[in-house]
Amino acid sequence: MTTEIKCGLEIHGYIKTPANVKLFCNCLAHSSEAPNTNICPVCTGQPGCKPMPANEEAIRAVCSIALMLGCRINHSLIFQRKHYDWPDMPTGYQRTMSGSFSAPVGENGSFLGIGIREVHLEEDPARWDPKTGAVDYNRSGCPLVEIVTEPDFKSASELREWLKRLVRTLSYIKAIDEEAGIKSDVNISIAPRFSRVEIKNVNSFTSIVQAAEYEISRQEQEVRAGRHVEQSTMRWNDDKARTEFMRSKETAQDYMFIPDPDLPVISIGDAYIKDLEAGLPEKPDQKASRYRKLGVDKADADVLSSEIELASLFEVIAEQVNPVLAARWLRRELLRVLNYNKKELAAIKLEEKQIIALLEMVEKHEITDAVAKRILEMLIEKPFDVRGYVKEQRLAAISDDDTLRRLCKEAIQENPQAVADFKGGNEKALNFIVGSVMKKTKGKARPDAVKRMISLELNSLEP
Ligand SMILES: [Zn+2]
Repeated sequence: MTTEIKCGLEIHGYIKTPANVKLFCNCLAHSSEAPNTNICPVCTGQPGCKPMPANEEAIRAVCSIALMLGCRINHSLIFQRKHYDWPDMPTGYQRTMSGSFSAPVGENGSFLGIGIREVHLEEDPARWDPKTGAVDYNRSGCPLVEIVTEPDFKSASELREWLKRLVRTLSYIKAIDEEAGIKSDVNISIAPRFSRVEIKNVNSFTSIVQAAEYEISRQEQEVRAGRHVEQSTMRWNDDKARTEFMRSKETAQDYMFIPDPDLPVISIGDAYIKDLEAGLPEKPDQKASRYRKLGVDKADADVLSSEIELASLFEVIAEQVNPVLAARWLRRELLRVLNYNKKELAAIKLEEKQIIALLEMVEKHEITDAVAKRILEMLIEKPFDVRGYVKEQRLAAISDDDTLRRLCKEAIQENPQAVADFKGGNEKALNFIVGSVMKKTKGKARPDAVKRMISLELNSLEP
């Protein structure tokens, strides 16, 4: 039986701004410092304290996110008070752009085939530990973006790839704190009644997919057993890998939304939106498809477009060097070397012109792949003149046939057992002789040329 499924997400991410301050005060946001150190009367909700006007950088970041997701931007943004009484919210209400009278920052977008209902800005509550009762206000008032999708996902398996691509796209504009991760509410409803069940605060890609899978199959069982699925709010228990009932679904009225009288309406003009749009980068998917048109294979194009720094490096290099070769080297070799050395591309001093020089030499077979890999490993440590180094260290590929033939003959003489094995039908024995020549040349011979030369020599030795 295949059931019709509707699944939507409400994704929360921390907004990262250059000044890294909270939404309504100048306390540092997203710090890893001791509890209750980045606080002031505003973000701890002291009586009589008015919020400062909303952080302009945060508004700019949310507008950029909404534009990246194809949303229409509203011209008047209104903060509302969402009332609830909970220890993590000292004012008794959360200031949010969602709710009954809301004009979210962006609406009616679409990203990779999934509708984006709205994108808005809100403040984070404090961190409350229900076991000890301790409250840490460092997080209180940090700017959060909420991205609400339409219930367009038809299965749990679609979620992971979509979320991965969403985070990748938003990483281009560096508006989201990726290290802080995302949290999501997951809404699931199935035919025939489509009663909406909301799973709150699921906090990793894996858990989001698991929670959706679990909830879909739970609801299918209910329907098969002839029971109604009740509209409700659930929580995801990571340890037990199951959803658990929290409460019957509250309606918007339960929160008594009112526009916040302390915060003026924020006007967003056309010129502001145009200016933001002009500064937005090309999206990763657009980049990947452009790279594929250059002949780059899909896996390379996907990886290269996943990080803006890597994409920019590729684009500069591919203007000088064959794009397919450049893509292969950046994705496979450069990333391998970076991963191995636990380095980030954004954090190292890599000179584009040296990478170009290196790959030009590879392209023209002036150096072998083995030598180029060794140089690349050195280049991520510090920039240096690659051409000069190759000359100085005599690393140019051996292109002279006489030298190569002499070395191959030597290797054949030195490895009689391998020669005998090869003649006896063991093809792999040839690689052993090739390896011996490579060692003699310190990797400066091209393995395919050596292999060809050895085969020729061995054949000429045939009785
Ligand atoms: Zn504060």
